[in-house]
Amino acid sequence: MSFPNVRLRRLRKSGKIRELLEEVRLSPKDLICPIFVQEDLKSKIQGSSMPGMERLSLGDVVSEVNSIADLKIPAVMVFGIPSHKDEHGTSAFIQNGIVQKTIAEIRKNLGNDIVIMSDVCLCQYTSSGHCGLVRGDKIDNDSSLETLAKVAVSQAQAGVDVVSPSAMMDGQVKAIRQGLDDAGFTDVAIMSHSAKHRSSLYSPFKDMAHSAPQFGDRKTYQLPYTNPKEAMREVETDIQEGVDIVMIKPALAYLDLISMTKSKFNVPIAAYSVSGEYALVKAAAMAGYIDEKEVTLEILTAIKRAGADMIVTYFSKGAAKTLAER
Ligand SMILES: [Zn+2]
Repeated sequence: MSFPNVRLRRLRKSGKIRELLEEVRLSPKDLICPIFVQEDLKSKIQGSSMPGMERLSLGDVVSEVNSIADLKIPAVMVFGIPSHKDEHGTSAFIQNGIVQKTIAEIRKNLGNDIVIMSDVCLCQYTSSGHCGLVRGDKIDNDSSLETLAKVAVSQAQAGVDVVSPSAMMDGQVKAIRQGLDDAGFTDVAIMSHSAKHRSSLYSPFKDMAHSAPQFGDRKTYQLPYTNPKEAMREVETDIQEGVDIVMIKPALAYLDLISMTKSKFNVPIAAYSVSGEYALVKAAAMAGYIDEKEVTLEILTAIKRAGADMIVTYFSKGAAKTLAER
Protein backbone atom coordinates (compact mmCIF):
# COMPACT_ATOMS: atom_id res chain seq x y z
CA MET A 1 0.00 0.00 0.00
CA SER A 2 1.32 3.43 -0.82
CA PHE A 3 0.53 6.90 0.54
CA PRO A 4 1.04 9.23 -2.41
CA ASN A 5 0.00 12.32 -0.46
CA VAL A 6 2.56 11.94 2.27
CA ARG A 7 5.53 14.09 1.36
CA LEU A 8 7.56 14.94 4.40
CA ARG A 9 9.85 17.14 2.33
CA ARG A 10 7.04 19.75 2.10
CA LEU A 11 8.01 20.83 5.60
CA ARG A 12 11.70 21.14 4.74
CA LYS A 13 11.53 23.35 1.69
CA SER A 14 12.85 26.61 3.18
CA GLY A 15 14.91 27.73 6.10
CA LYS A 16 11.97 29.49 7.73
CA ILE A 17 9.62 26.51 7.50
CA ARG A 18 12.34 24.26 8.91
CA GLU A 19 12.76 26.74 11.75
CA LEU A 20 9.02 26.73 12.43
CA LEU A 21 8.97 22.94 12.62
CA GLU A 22 11.96 22.55 14.90
CA GLU A 23 11.04 20.13 17.67
CA VAL A 24 14.11 20.52 19.86
CA ARG A 25 15.63 23.97 20.23
CA LEU A 26 18.99 24.30 21.87
CA SER A 27 19.40 27.53 23.83
CA PRO A 28 22.21 29.03 25.91
CA LYS A 29 19.71 28.67 28.77
CA ASP A 30 20.23 24.89 28.61
CA LEU A 31 23.91 25.18 29.47
CA ILE A 32 26.02 25.06 32.61
CA CYS A 33 29.58 26.29 32.15
CA PRO A 34 32.34 24.66 34.24
CA ILE A 35 35.19 26.83 35.48
CA PHE A 36 38.49 25.70 36.98
CA VAL A 37 40.06 27.92 39.63
CA GLN A 38 43.57 27.22 40.86
CA GLU A 39 44.73 28.39 44.26
CA ASP A 40 48.37 29.27 43.65
CA LEU A 41 47.97 30.99 40.28
CA LYS A 42 48.89 34.62 39.62
CA SER A 43 46.99 34.75 36.34
CA LYS A 44 45.13 32.30 34.11
CA ILE A 45 46.84 29.60 32.06
CA GLN A 46 45.68 27.44 29.17
CA GLY A 47 44.93 23.79 29.92
CA SER A 48 47.09 21.65 27.65
CA SER A 49 44.71 18.67 27.73
CA MET A 50 41.61 20.77 26.99
CA PRO A 51 42.38 23.36 24.29
CA GLY A 52 40.41 26.55 24.86
CA MET A 53 39.78 25.83 28.56
CA GLU A 54 41.73 27.76 31.17
CA ARG A 55 42.75 27.39 34.76
CA LEU A 56 41.76 30.69 36.33
CA SER A 57 43.30 32.53 39.22
CA LEU A 58 40.90 33.92 41.83
CA GLY A 59 41.50 37.37 40.32
CA ASP A 60 40.23 36.18 36.91
CA VAL A 61 36.97 34.76 38.21
CA VAL A 62 34.67 37.79 38.12
CA SER A 63 35.49 38.85 34.56
CA GLU A 64 35.21 35.25 33.35
CA VAL A 65 31.84 34.69 35.02
CA ASN A 66 30.61 38.05 33.72
CA SER A 67 31.51 36.97 30.18
CA ILE A 68 29.59 33.71 30.74
CA ALA A 69 26.54 35.58 32.06
CA ASP A 70 26.71 38.00 29.11
CA LEU A 71 26.28 35.00 26.80
CA LYS A 72 22.94 34.25 28.57
CA ILE A 73 24.30 31.07 30.12
CA PRO A 74 22.41 30.78 33.42
CA ALA A 75 24.86 28.76 35.54
CA VAL A 76 28.50 28.05 36.27
CA MET A 77 29.96 25.00 37.97
CA VAL A 78 33.04 25.69 40.08
CA PHE A 79 35.92 23.21 40.28
CA GLY A 80 38.84 24.00 42.58
CA ILE A 81 42.49 23.08 42.27
CA PRO A 82 44.03 23.52 45.75
CA SER A 83 47.73 23.94 46.47
CA HIS A 84 47.53 21.60 49.48
CA LYS A 85 46.40 17.97 49.44
CA ASP A 86 46.24 15.64 52.43
CA GLU A 87 44.67 12.33 53.43
CA HIS A 88 41.58 14.05 54.88
CA GLY A 89 40.88 16.32 51.89
CA THR A 90 41.05 19.30 54.27
CA SER A 91 41.32 21.96 51.55
CA ALA A 92 37.90 20.88 50.27
CA PHE A 93 36.02 22.14 53.33
CA ILE A 94 38.05 24.95 54.93
CA GLN A 95 36.36 28.34 54.90
CA ASN A 96 39.17 29.99 52.92
CA GLY A 97 39.46 27.12 50.42
CA ILE A 98 39.73 28.04 46.76
CA VAL A 99 36.17 26.96 45.90
CA GLN A 100 34.71 28.77 48.92
CA LYS A 101 36.58 31.98 48.00
CA THR A 102 35.49 31.65 44.37
CA ILE A 103 31.83 31.20 45.31
CA ALA A 104 31.93 34.21 47.65
CA GLU A 105 33.62 36.33 44.97
CA ILE A 106 30.99 35.48 42.35
CA ARG A 107 28.13 36.06 44.79
CA LYS A 108 29.56 39.41 45.89
CA ASN A 109 29.99 40.69 42.34
CA LEU A 110 27.13 39.08 40.42
CA GLY A 111 24.45 38.70 43.09
CA ASN A 112 21.72 36.50 41.64
CA ASP A 113 22.66 37.17 38.01
CA ILE A 114 24.06 33.65 37.67
CA VAL A 115 23.33 30.33 39.37
CA ILE A 116 26.41 29.20 41.28
CA MET A 117 26.95 25.44 41.32
CA SER A 118 29.95 23.69 42.82
CA ASP A 119 31.48 20.26 42.61
CA VAL A 120 31.46 18.31 45.87
CA CYS A 121 34.18 15.69 45.76
CA LEU A 122 37.50 14.92 47.38
CA CYS A 123 39.69 13.77 44.48
CA GLN A 124 41.33 17.17 43.87
CA TYR A 125 41.97 17.50 47.61
CA THR A 126 43.10 14.06 48.83
CA SER A 127 46.72 12.93 48.55
CA SER A 128 45.34 9.62 47.18
CA GLY A 129 43.47 11.39 44.37
CA HIS A 130 40.40 9.28 45.22
CA CYS A 131 36.87 10.65 45.55
CA GLY A 132 36.49 9.23 49.06
CA LEU A 133 38.75 8.80 52.08
CA VAL A 134 41.16 5.88 52.04
CA ARG A 135 41.23 3.31 54.87
CA GLY A 136 43.95 0.68 54.31
CA ASP A 137 43.70 -0.15 50.63
CA LYS A 138 39.98 0.67 50.35
CA ILE A 139 37.91 3.76 49.66
CA ASP A 140 35.83 3.99 52.83
CA ASN A 141 32.24 4.90 52.07
CA ASP A 142 30.78 5.93 55.41
CA SER A 143 33.62 8.06 56.77
CA SER A 144 33.68 9.84 53.39
CA LEU A 145 30.02 10.84 53.77
CA GLU A 146 30.75 12.98 56.79
CA THR A 147 33.49 14.84 54.91
CA LEU A 148 31.34 15.30 51.80
CA ALA A 149 28.60 16.85 53.97
CA LYS A 150 31.20 19.20 55.50
CA VAL A 151 32.34 20.23 51.99
CA ALA A 152 28.75 20.98 50.97
CA VAL A 153 28.05 23.01 54.12
CA SER A 154 31.26 25.05 53.67
CA GLN A 155 30.22 25.86 50.10
CA ALA A 156 26.73 26.79 51.28
CA GLN A 157 28.29 29.16 53.84
CA ALA A 158 30.19 30.78 50.96
CA GLY A 159 26.90 31.36 49.10
CA VAL A 160 26.45 28.50 46.63
CA ASP A 161 23.02 27.82 45.07
CA VAL A 162 23.46 24.18 44.08
CA VAL A 163 25.98 21.62 45.33
CA SER A 164 26.89 18.82 42.98
CA PRO A 165 28.28 15.70 44.66
CA SER A 166 30.33 13.61 42.25
CA ALA A 167 32.03 11.11 44.56
CA MET A 168 29.62 8.20 43.90
CA MET A 169 29.61 7.24 47.58
CA ASP A 170 26.44 5.39 48.64
CA GLY A 171 24.20 7.65 50.69
CA GLN A 172 25.96 10.89 49.68
CA VAL A 173 22.74 12.74 48.82
CA LYS A 174 21.13 11.83 52.14
CA ALA A 175 24.23 12.79 54.14
CA ILE A 176 24.61 16.11 52.31
CA ARG A 177 20.89 16.96 52.59
CA GLN A 178 21.01 16.25 56.31
CA GLY A 179 24.19 18.31 56.74
CA LEU A 180 22.77 21.27 54.81
CA ASP A 181 19.44 21.19 56.62
CA ASP A 182 21.08 20.91 60.05
CA ALA A 183 23.21 23.95 59.22
CA GLY A 184 20.13 25.91 58.13
CA PHE A 185 20.76 25.72 54.37
CA THR A 186 17.39 24.23 53.44
CA ASP A 187 17.35 26.32 50.23
CA VAL A 188 20.59 24.96 48.81
CA ALA A 189 19.74 22.39 46.13
CA ILE A 190 21.55 19.15 45.32
CA MET A 191 22.36 18.13 41.77
CA SER A 192 23.91 14.70 42.23
CA HIS A 193 26.16 12.93 39.76
CA SER A 194 23.66 10.10 40.18
CA ALA A 195 24.81 7.81 37.39
CA LYS A 196 28.47 8.64 37.01
CA HIS A 197 30.23 5.96 35.03
CA ARG A 198 33.78 4.68 35.20
CA SER A 199 34.76 6.18 31.87
CA SER A 200 37.98 6.62 29.93
CA LEU A 201 36.58 9.94 28.74
CA TYR A 202 37.60 11.75 31.95
CA SER A 203 41.35 11.78 31.24
CA PRO A 204 41.68 15.41 30.07
CA PHE A 205 39.81 16.59 33.21
CA LYS A 206 42.10 14.63 35.55
CA ASP A 207 45.05 16.37 33.97
CA MET A 208 43.32 19.76 34.07
CA ALA A 209 42.21 19.45 37.71
CA HIS A 210 45.19 17.47 39.06
CA SER A 211 42.83 14.76 40.29
CA ALA A 212 44.20 11.46 38.95
CA PRO A 213 44.11 8.60 41.51
CA GLN A 214 47.56 7.80 42.89
CA PHE A 215 46.79 4.08 43.20
CA GLY A 216 44.23 1.71 41.73
CA ASP A 217 41.21 3.02 39.86
CA ARG A 218 37.63 4.14 40.53
CA LYS A 219 35.90 0.89 39.62
CA THR A 220 34.79 0.19 43.21
CA TYR A 221 32.59 3.28 43.28
CA GLN A 222 31.83 4.52 39.76
CA LEU A 223 29.25 2.67 37.65
CA PRO A 224 30.24 0.13 35.02
CA TYR A 225 29.04 1.26 31.58
CA THR A 226 27.68 -2.24 30.97
CA ASN A 227 24.84 -1.89 33.51
CA PRO A 228 21.81 0.24 32.61
CA LYS A 229 19.58 -1.30 35.30
CA GLU A 230 22.15 -0.48 37.96
CA ALA A 231 22.33 3.07 36.60
CA MET A 232 18.58 3.42 37.07
CA ARG A 233 18.90 2.09 40.65
CA GLU A 234 21.46 4.83 41.33
CA VAL A 235 19.05 7.46 40.00
CA GLU A 236 16.16 6.00 41.99
CA THR A 237 18.22 5.92 45.19
CA ASP A 238 19.20 9.56 44.80
CA ILE A 239 15.54 10.53 44.32
CA GLN A 240 14.62 8.62 47.48
CA GLU A 241 17.39 10.47 49.33
CA GLY A 242 15.93 13.84 48.34
CA VAL A 243 17.98 14.92 45.31
CA ASP A 244 16.74 17.96 43.37
CA ILE A 245 18.36 17.28 40.00
CA VAL A 246 19.82 13.94 38.85
CA MET A 247 22.73 13.68 36.46
CA ILE A 248 23.91 11.18 33.87
CA LYS A 249 27.65 11.32 33.14
CA PRO A 250 29.20 11.14 30.53
CA ALA A 251 26.57 12.23 28.00
CA LEU A 252 27.19 11.37 24.37
CA ALA A 253 27.82 7.64 24.78
CA TYR A 254 25.03 7.45 27.38
CA LEU A 255 22.05 8.98 25.55
CA ASP A 256 20.03 5.81 26.14
CA LEU A 257 20.37 6.29 29.90
CA ILE A 258 19.26 9.92 29.68
CA SER A 259 16.23 8.81 27.71
CA MET A 260 15.54 5.94 30.13
CA THR A 261 15.73 8.30 33.12
CA LYS A 262 13.27 10.67 31.46
CA SER A 263 10.76 7.91 30.80
CA LYS A 264 11.05 6.33 34.26
CA PHE A 265 11.26 9.31 36.61
CA ASN A 266 9.66 12.73 36.98
CA VAL A 267 12.74 14.70 38.01
CA PRO A 268 14.94 17.34 36.34
CA ILE A 269 17.80 15.71 34.44
CA ALA A 270 21.26 17.10 33.84
CA ALA A 271 23.74 15.51 31.47
CA TYR A 272 27.48 16.06 31.82
CA SER A 273 29.28 16.20 28.51
CA VAL A 274 32.74 15.36 29.81
CA SER A 275 36.28 16.44 28.99
CA GLY A 276 36.97 13.52 26.65
CA GLU A 277 33.88 14.34 24.60
CA TYR A 278 35.19 17.90 24.32
CA ALA A 279 38.71 16.75 23.45
CA LEU A 280 37.50 14.39 20.70
CA VAL A 281 35.65 17.21 18.94
CA LYS A 282 38.48 19.71 19.48
CA ALA A 283 41.12 17.32 18.11
CA ALA A 284 39.09 16.49 15.01
CA ALA A 285 38.30 20.17 14.44
CA MET A 286 41.93 21.21 14.90
CA ALA A 287 42.94 18.57 12.35
CA GLY A 288 40.40 20.06 9.94
CA TYR A 289 38.22 16.93 9.78
CA ILE A 290 35.02 18.47 11.15
CA ASP A 291 33.41 21.87 11.65
CA GLU A 292 33.56 22.46 15.41
CA LYS A 293 30.60 24.85 15.55
CA GLU A 294 28.27 22.55 13.60
CA VAL A 295 29.31 19.39 15.41
CA THR A 296 28.98 21.06 18.80
CA LEU A 297 25.39 22.15 18.14
CA GLU A 298 24.53 18.71 16.75
CA ILE A 299 25.89 16.91 19.81
CA LEU A 300 24.33 19.25 22.37
CA THR A 301 20.97 19.12 20.58
CA ALA A 302 21.14 15.31 20.62
CA ILE A 303 21.76 15.34 24.38
CA LYS A 304 18.74 17.61 24.84
CA ARG A 305 16.66 15.48 22.45
CA ALA A 306 17.49 12.41 24.53
CA GLY A 307 15.82 14.11 27.50
CA ALA A 308 18.36 16.29 29.30
CA ASP A 309 16.90 19.47 30.79
CA MET A 310 20.36 20.99 31.20
CA ILE A 311 23.86 20.18 29.98
CA VAL A 312 27.14 20.72 31.76
CA THR A 313 29.57 21.28 28.91
CA TYR A 314 32.97 22.77 28.16
CA PHE A 315 31.39 23.94 24.91
CA SER A 316 29.03 26.29 26.79
CA LYS A 317 30.66 29.55 25.71
CA GLY A 318 31.38 28.41 22.15
CA ALA A 319 27.87 27.06 21.65
CA ALA A 320 26.24 30.15 23.17
CA LYS A 321 28.26 32.36 20.81
CA THR A 322 27.29 30.24 17.79
CA LEU A 323 23.61 30.31 18.82
CA ALA A 324 23.75 34.10 19.19
CA GLU A 325 25.14 34.42 15.65
CA ARG A 326 22.12 32.58 14.19
ZN1 LIG B 1 36.04 12.87 42.46
